[in-house]
Formats: sequence, structure tokens, C-alpha cells
Amino acid sequence: MKNKDILLQVFDMDDTLVISNSINYINETKSGKTQCVINSGQFRDIKNFIFGLQKKKIIEIDYSEYSNTDISYKLLQQSEKIIKYMCKLNSAYHDENQKVAIITARGNSPQQIHNFFKELYDINIPVNMIKCMNWSVNKGNNLSRSVNKGNNLSRSVNKGNNPSRSGNNVNIESQDELEERLLRKYRGKKEYYYLLRAKEKGERKKLAMFNFIDHGYRKINFYDDDPDNTISMKTLKRLKTIDKSKYGDLDLSVYFVPQKEHSKLHQIVENRTREHLKKYIYPNGSICKKFLKKYNH
Ligand SMILES: [Mg+2]
Repeated sequence: MKNKDILLQVFDMDDTLVISNSINYINETKSGKTQCVINSGQFRDIKNFIFGLQKKKIIEIDYSEYSNTDISYKLLQQSEKIIKYMCKLNSAYHDENQKVAIITARGNSPQQIHNFFKELYDINIPVNMIKCMNWSVNKGNNLSRSVNKGNNLSRSVNKGNNPSRSGNNVNIESQDELEERLLRKYRGKKEYYYLLRAKEKGERKKLAMFNFIDHGYRKINFYDDDPDNTISMKTLKRLKTIDKSKYGDLDLSVYFVPQKEHSKLHQIVENRTREHLKKYIYPNGSICKKFLKKYNH
């Protein structure tokens, strides 16, 4: 069956398929100390504010619970699943007219996501159908995104025995390589170039999607809980007017996963939040509150 005849179902991971206990640490640049910890839903909601503080070099964001493959995998295994979308994924996987793909900001290892579905659900999503938008082979495994050094909060996550076998990614194109390749390919074509250029990191999801379209998929559903991602993804519909003969049959549906689907699950996860982080938890932890108040938040 040709790609153009297949319905490609593309899912985000965090807060679309799973709710995990993974958190981001917000560290003060000057002291290197953690001031706040936020979960994925909170990150989605206040990211513009914290990116602003990061630009002013007031804070650094430690993403290691998402970017460190071993820690991330462990937390994924313990995550709560969002049944509605997991069921959609499962039935698409078992339907010969459909295919499943993942586009996620989590981690830098498509192999990790592959192993998660294979080991927990016996769902075998090919690694090349999993796009981790922060994955960069050049930067290596630690992602060099301010992994926290001066932080004395100990992580309660057991580093384990490398269950994610991240070493197998070698022959799969990283998101950086994909971005470079697509921008090179379309550099001379202004409309494409402006459509594909990712100004913000979040817009890299669009490039991953364009890669699927470039591979011939025309019937595509995309599910994500972040309105910024769904808005950005919808701009790809412009392809239909950019080149009608090539993309006239593009049928891209973008679905926003509303908060009500997962707020209950967040409560469950938050109830098992690590005790020693209580003072740092956004928005009520006393240390976090005090810190953010300084910046009018
Ligand atoms: Mg998400």
C-alpha cells in the first residue's frame, strides 16, 4: 500500500498519550540552585514566561528528566496512560490501512520511545516513525542543555541498568539533521523556506511532520495538548496553495487534546510527588513562590 493511501496517526507523547512524574528544574543562573520544579502541563502553560527569564539569563532550565534517556525511560514506565488516545494509537496500529507515528519534545532517543511501546504494549513503532525534536546526535547524549551542577536536590529516580538501549539510534536521522536537510532542500524556494523555518523550538514539530508529508503521506491526523503546537502544525495546510499539483490532496487534521482529558491524571501523579521537592513545586511551593514573585509571576 502506498503512503498516500494510508491514514497516518501522529501523536505527541507527554499529556497526550502519557502523564508522567517527570519534572523540569528551574535553576537560578547566579547561584546554580533550584528555585522551582514544574511538570509537563505547567511547562506548556508558562513556557513563554520561563523562556523570557532564560533569555535574560536569570534562570536555566534543567530538562534532564526528559533528556537523560535512562531517567526518562524509568519515569515513562511508571507513567499514567491517557486511555482515549492510547486506544486510538492501539487501534491504528492494528489497522492495515493506518500507521502510527510519534512527534515528541521528550528526550533525545527515538529508541527509548520505541522500547517503551514495545516492552509495555507489544506495539512495534519503527524507530524512523518516531521523531524526538530535541534529539541531536552532534550534541551527544546529555543534550548540553544546562544539566544542573550546583544543585543539591537529589533525584529520587534510580538510574538503573540502561533499559533504554539508546546506542541503537546510530543510523536514524536526528532532528537536527532532518532540519538541516529540509532547509537545504527548500532553501531556494521562498514559500517553503518561510513555512518550514522554525523560529521557536516548539515549531520543530512542524518540520518533523513535513518530513512525513515529504515521504508521500497525505491523510494525516495529529494530536497534541499544546495549543502552540497545534497552531503551528496547522500552517502546513498552506502547502496546498503553495503547490496545488503536489499537495492538493493533503488532508491534515489537527486535534487539540484538551486539559479535561488529563487533569485528573495529573492529580494522581502529583499525589505521588517526591516529598523532598514540596517547597519547590510550582505554583504553591514556598521557595518557588518567593522566587517567581520577584519577577511578577
Ligand atoms: Mg505534550
